Amino acid sequence: MYLKVICAWCGKFIRMKECKGSGVNTLPISHSICAACSRKLEDEMEEVFQQNPKPTEEEECHERQ
Ligand SMILES: [Zn+2]
Repeated sequence: MYLKVICAWCGKFIRMKECKGSGVNTLPISHSICAACSRKLEDEMEEVFQQNPKPTEEEECHERQ
């Protein structure tokens, strides 16, 4: 049988995956992440990291006024 792999972020269909077993009473759906969302997630994480590289330095700037 085959199960459907969809993106957990956008719900986009990614691919069909062959799996063994009857899968009785289980939905043949597996969640993964598509290439677009994977890249988007990486960009967002990098952006957050760049915006707040060292929070302590920002505090020092406020004290200098
Ligand atoms: Zn996606």
